[in-house]
Amino acid sequence: MIGRASILTYGCQMNEADSSDIGLALREAGYGLTSAWEQADLVVLNTCAIREKAEDRIKGTLGQLRAVRAKRPWLVVGVMGCMAAQSSEYLEREADFVIPPLAAGKLPEVLAGLPPPPGVGEEAGDLPPLQMEQETEFKRYLPIIRGCDYRCTFCVVPNTRGPEMNEPAEPLLAAVDRMSGAGVLEITLLGQTVNAYRHGEWDFARLLETMARRHPHVSFRFLTSHPRDFTDRVIEAMASNANVMPYLHLPLQSGSDKILRRMKRLYSVSEYLAVIERARAAIPTLAVSTDIICGFPGETEEDFELTLEAVRRLRYDSAFMFYYSERPGTPAVKLGDKIPVQVRKERLARLIEVQKAIQHEVNQRDVASEQRCLVERVSRRDPEVMLARTPGNKSLLVRAPRSTIGSYQRVRIERADSFTLYGEISFQPISAP
Ligand code: SF4
Repeated sequence: MIGRASILTYGCQMNEADSSDIGLALREAGYGLTSAWEQADLVVLNTCAIREKAEDRIKGTLGQLRAVRAKRPWLVVGVMGCMAAQSSEYLEREADFVIPPLAAGKLPEVLAGLPPPPGVGEEAGDLPPLQMEQETEFKRYLPIIRGCDYRCTFCVVPNTRGPEMNEPAEPLLAAVDRMSGAGVLEITLLGQTVNAYRHGEWDFARLLETMARRHPHVSFRFLTSHPRDFTDRVIEAMASNANVMPYLHLPLQSGSDKILRRMKRLYSVSEYLAVIERARAAIPTLAVSTDIICGFPGETEEDFELTLEAVRRLRYDSAFMFYYSERPGTPAVKLGDKIPVQVRKERLARLIEVQKAIQHEVNQRDVASEQRCLVERVSRRDPEVMLARTPGNKSLLVRAPRSTIGSYQRVRIERADSFTLYGEISFQPISAP
């Protein structure tokens, strides 16, 4: 080992998946991975630029690393991910290397050119190993599309990750074969618009169906879908394969057609509703989550009321809700009728209130059911309570031994609040999905 390296991952699951590749490159270059980033010789920040808040957090960490460097002058700091795609004197000043997503393959070359850190051995000691937050040996991400061909006016992704690139199907199927052979229990197919997948004769429905049939003991999920690309064949692939989990993340973004047009989302609210209605009719246990932005330029109180109305009608199982954050280089920056930040925040607070109450009610439907759940890790508050995930992707707390981590357990749901289900292990025999 030539030194200790740490990776700090921000943002979406695509970044989590990319961090696995970064970890691999670091290991191949001779680094041991640790979560104790303050004591590492090399720290890579895999960044997110989707909202100003994320960037502020990353800048805060870069400031802390500046202080660490005062004590450990050999510390190397690298910035990767979406922030690295935006030219910035600030990053050039704070980091020793900056690699944007489209040039991520350059990392081994950059690592090979770094001087080996001094004094490893004495100081490295037994630092805690780095455990990737979202990926484990039993749960993996598989990017099938990178980049995006849409041009939503609020979004930096087309600038930072470039146009859509679809991986050929054969290597993807081979990757799933390898994961399944290695005992992986759950695979999440990833893409900014995962259901737009197309390569040769393969589209997303065919790819999902083929993987699910080939590996009936592996559970499959996918993220993130675009409403415009959601075909009935995908619904059919979900409905007819019990190992495709009944969970759909489908961003709505706004309940107003006028705002959707300004966002260039390329669907109407009624088209969006029709997709959800068809999916729910075919998959009665389907859980649906969404993304919503409040206070986009031009959003009047009436437009916002339409969003609240859509949320009340759709009764999401969960929602990622944000107020509009202006991102440099995006078309929305040039739109008129900006909404004051205070109004954006107030609308967000109102939306959260509405959704929280809905989630509380929706989660009561799970109470008294028994569900086959994947136990993922020890909960943060109680070492005797495990965090598991339901087929509908809900967090579930269950009292169980640590040895259950990485296994499916049949759990009886005892109660639920807005964000969490609580259950007891049921000792009924467990069957495949
Ligand atoms: S579909 Fe729109 S929001 Fe999603 S990544 Fe592409 S441009 Fe961004």
